[in-house]
Amino acid sequence: MEVPTHLIRTPFPIELAIRREDLIHPIVSGNKYRKLKYNLRDAVSGQARLLVTFGGPHSNHVAATAFAAREAGLSSLGLIRGEEWETLLSDSPTLVFAQKCGMKFQFLSREAYRMRNDPTFSDALHQQWPHAFVLPEGGTNELAVKGCSEILGTQDENYDIICCSVGTGGTIAGLSRAAASHQKILGFPALKGDFLKEDIRKFANNDNWELVTGYEFGGYAQTDDRLVAFINAFYAETKIPLDPVYTGKMVFGVMKEIATGRFTEGSRILLIHTGGLQGVPAMNARLQRMKRPILTLDV
Ligand SMILES: *Cc1c(COP(=O)(O)O)cnc(C)c1O
Repeated sequence: MEVPTHLIRTPFPIELAIRREDLIHPIVSGNKYRKLKYNLRDAVSGQARLLVTFGGPHSNHVAATAFAAREAGLSSLGLIRGEEWETLLSDSPTLVFAQKCGMKFQFLSREAYRMRNDPTFSDALHQQWPHAFVLPEGGTNELAVKGCSEILGTQDENYDIICCSVGTGGTIAGLSRAAASHQKILGFPALKGDFLKEDIRKFANNDNWELVTGYEFGGYAQTDDRLVAFINAFYAETKIPLDPVYTGKMVFGVMKEIATGRFTEGSRILLIHTGGLQGVPAMNARLQRMKRPILTLDV
């Protein structure tokens, strides 16, 4: 798949580019599409008829799974965190999109949702749906990491540093596998947690990566006026939309690290835009309710 790369101008003596994985699809997150590719192949060749997965009501992974399942001719079922979303469904652009793709839902209480990785829970799933292929929350598994390794290609060997956002760690693990020996991967976590490194190590077979912390903005799906202003200014200047949950925090962090001299002169840096823009309307609705400035992106 040929994905465009755009240059970003900075006042510093470095070369900065961004791989527009967000352009793979307007709603389906770039990296989620990558993660689904080999999982879908496995599901289809294993005669599965139903794709089952988990997520919150604004999950990029749920939207991507619904879309990809339809493309592959499979049914899909989303197990959604929070019983209240059964009646609020139309308030979630993600769930509305997934439903249009044919996804059916079951809404779980937070207590039930917490049990999702429990063996008894997956046994019950398989008993209820014997022809199901179950994907973990966030979509990260071995086949997903393999798909993410295809984000990088031989055309990228000129870069010294590759930067990406980190949620469950599948994307950075894939990049770490695909990187050339002189390349370093920097991951910018979108949430706080010491478990991240361990999760990444499960799939990355290499020490060519590092996490750059301090740009979580309070935690997963948390944001503040400074981040919103940064994303709006970046969009005004580059016409590249960033999402507030993942890529906005990563690019904010990269710009800050550049300004404070982390990278040597002449460094060639490639940012991976992993998508996530389908979450922007829901975030704006939340910001509006809190009477805070919103994201002004045409997405
Ligand atoms: C899910 C997601 C991530 C995080 O990817 P992981 O593989 O879970 O680390 C990053 N960016 C976007 C836009 C996402 O949707």
